[in-house]
Amino acid sequence: MITTAHPYKYPTESRHRRHGPSGYKDYRDYRPWLEDEFKFRCVYCLKRQKWARTDVWSVDHLIPQSIALDKECDYDNLVLTCQWCNNRKLADLVPDPVAVAYGNCLQVDDDSGRVSPLNEDGVILERVLKLNHQSQVLTRREKIRTLKIMARCAPSEWKQMMGFPEELPNLRRKSPPSNIRPEGLDDSYFEKCKRHELPEVYE
Ligand SMILES: [Zn+2]
Repeated sequence: MITTAHPYKYPTESRHRRHGPSGYKDYRDYRPWLEDEFKFRCVYCLKRQKWARTDVWSVDHLIPQSIALDKECDYDNLVLTCQWCNNRKLADLVPDPVAVAYGNCLQVDDDSGRVSPLNEDGVILERVLKLNHQSQVLTRREKIRTLKIMARCAPSEWKQMMGFPEELPNLRRKSPPSNIRPEGLDDSYFEKCKRHELPEVYE
C-alpha cells in the first residue's frame, strides 16, 4: 500500500513547461492549462485544489501587471495559486517556480507545520507569501496530522486527498489561438489518465 506521499513536499528539480498556449485575450482563460501544468495545486504553498473550494483559486502573474503589462497574457509568466498566496504576493517578485526548484529553497516541518527557508530564494518566498503566518502554519499542521491519521485508518480517503482530481481538463478541447508546445498535450494528466498512467497519489 502506498502511504508515503508527503502533502507538502516542494519539487526538488527545476523543469520546463509542458504546455505553451498563447493568444487568449483574457489571462484567466489559461487557468485549465495552468492547473494541469502545476498539478492542481498552488505553486507557492502546495495547497491542492482537492482540499479547497474552486472559488479560492487564482492565476498569478510572476512579473506583475504593474511592472509588465505586456506579459499579462504571456503563459510563461502565469502560475496557479490559491487566493491567499495571490493576495500576499501582489506586486512583489518571487523566484519562478519553473526555473527554480522550490524544494531547494523551502522545507516544511511535519510536527510544527512551519516552513524553513533553505537559501536566499527561500527567505524571499517565506517573507513575501507569509508562509509562516499563524493561520497558514496552523492549517498546514492540521492537514499533515489529519492526512497521517487517514493514511493509517482510512487509506482510500487518504488516496482521495492525495490523488488527482476526478475531473481533469481535456486540453485538446481547449484550442487556444496558438500553442507553441503542442507536444505537451500528450503529457497532460487527462491523456495520462486515459492511458492508465496516473499514479493513485502524487507529491
Ligand atoms: Zn497558496
